[in-house]
Amino acid sequence: MSDLRTHGGKGSGQRPTNKAKYEANYDAIFGKKKAKPKYTHECLDCGAKQHEDNMRVTTEVEAYDIGDAVFHRTMHFLHCETCDSENTEEYIGEDDDC
Ligand SMILES: [Zn+2]
Repeated sequence: MSDLRTHGGKGSGQRPTNKAKYEANYDAIFGKKKAKPKYTHECLDCGAKQHEDNMRVTTEVEAYDIGDAVFHRTMHFLHCETCDSENTEEYIGEDDDC
């Protein structure tokens, strides 16, 4: 703890951008701005508020034939904890000022 050493000294050149790391940082910055809200989704069918961590997720892959290629799109559906409806929307809660 007494060895106060800084790294390498004179700015050691430019490193190639580490994309994975950049994306991890991006996630850290934009993925979780605030502490986790209590609820993230509200069911439009039964009105239950819930957190996506508790919701059942189904994944569907849709294939689009765009001529000479097939484009796959993966979609995630969150299901209401209470009634299992897919008809949920993001719950903003009280603090909706950005
Ligand atoms: Zn529901």
